[in-house]
Amino acid sequence: MIKKILLFLLVCVLILLTVLVTNTFLKSSKQIHVEATPAPEISPAALQHFQGALAFKTVSNSNPALFDSSQFIGFRNYLETTYPNFHGQLQREIIKDFTLLFTWKGKNPDLKPIVLMAHQDVVPIELGTESLWSVDPFAGEVKDDFIWGRGTTDDKINLISILEAAEKLLATNFQPERTIYFSFGHDEEIGGSGAIAVAKLLKERGVEAEFVMDEGGIITKSQIPGITQPVALIGTSEKGYLSLILSVEEEGGHSSMPAPETSIDILTRAIVRLREKPFEARFSESMNGFIESLGPEMPFVQRMAFANPWLFKSMIIGIYESSAGGNAMIRTTAAPTIIQAGLKDNVIPTLSTATINFRLLPGDKGEAVITKVKEIINDDRVSVSIYKNSLSEASAVTPMNSVGYQKIATAIKSSYADLLASPFLMIGATDSRYFGEVSSNIIKFSPMIDPIGFHGINERVSLESYQTSLWFYEQLLKELN
Ligand SMILES: [Zn+2]
Repeated sequence: MIKKILLFLLVCVLILLTVLVTNTFLKSSKQIHVEATPAPEISPAALQHFQGALAFKTVSNSNPALFDSSQFIGFRNYLETTYPNFHGQLQREIIKDFTLLFTWKGKNPDLKPIVLMAHQDVVPIELGTESLWSVDPFAGEVKDDFIWGRGTTDDKINLISILEAAEKLLATNFQPERTIYFSFGHDEEIGGSGAIAVAKLLKERGVEAEFVMDEGGIITKSQIPGITQPVALIGTSEKGYLSLILSVEEEGGHSSMPAPETSIDILTRAIVRLREKPFEARFSESMNGFIESLGPEMPFVQRMAFANPWLFKSMIIGIYESSAGGNAMIRTTAAPTIIQAGLKDNVIPTLSTATINFRLLPGDKGEAVITKVKEIINDDRVSVSIYKNSLSEASAVTPMNSVGYQKIATAIKSSYADLLASPFLMIGATDSRYFGEVSSNIIKFSPMIDPIGFHGINERVSLESYQTSLWFYEQLLKELN
């Protein structure tokens, strides 16, 4: 009898192994095969142009009194003199005083246009951190094979690379088949009113773009476990954004006679409940694309896990959940960001409020998240409202077989040898989130390699990144023909 059971178990294990291994080998490589041509050296002029752009303090500040318009005007003039072909041959429109929209007319009006985006503004140097920089953040210094300064990674590398590539092609009398719009916002870091206005204008003009490309995913050499080749993470969707205000109003009074529950007690319990009950973990479409694109390139055991999600899904989710970055890829997250209550050490406050910032996984709608939040808090004394106009839903998903994804993946693979391309879910928000009515295919990708100090101290990109970025945009513009 025992022998029969053992035999039965053995057969089951063998069948399971056969299924796992067959599935693993059925999932073959999804990579586009193109031969890369090595990027040419960065010309001294191209390097100087980038350094010069970094010297303008095009800082976006949430306090409008600190906005320095002369820096933006200076930067606009700088671009005009640095890129004479671009400014001479394209139509320029100035939107919302500082955002720039250029139109490069294509030869074939039957083809849908495309929109290339970048932003001029940078985040401020956080007060008190100036001395922590090992260079002047606005000097555009080059040292140790890196270009240093505020805005190098975000987003002047894209802005300048786009202009350099187009300027170079214009000098050879290149004209694109498709019309190309270039939208260079001036306030991406504080809400993107410039990008909103451009999107509205293009929509009014009836522009339906084949795709929109904006900053986003990067090339990483070492951040994907199990993969030794560099990987281009091409953002095919973007998480949504929502801030909620939780507020509790209870009778306050003297702290010598506290009631069993004060407004602070009720509010903090609500926050604890929210943090203890995370939203459901799920693979979004971009995540599935990531698994499909990179799974077959992984070592056997990981490859088998990714090829058999029906068995290994919870294990994969567990691995993602173990890091903050991984966790953000698989679920809607909630982060308490502001708490306000109380004025005096011996007075119990009447009103306590907290701001909770949510990043919505594609598929999780704002309204549904609010309902869920109320359910989790489960306390009528806590009122929940949307902070200002903070709700922007998660973007649509750009399919891997779309023209945009294919062109961008081809251009980056032909610019950098032995590189893998993969769809990617953008966790942060970009200006392109406003372009949903201009195109259903929005791609978020910055062709730079493992940038350092994004929004932080000693922000820098490698010279290799700039070289790759210049080459990528040139390939992409040609690829569009
Ligand atoms: Zn940016």
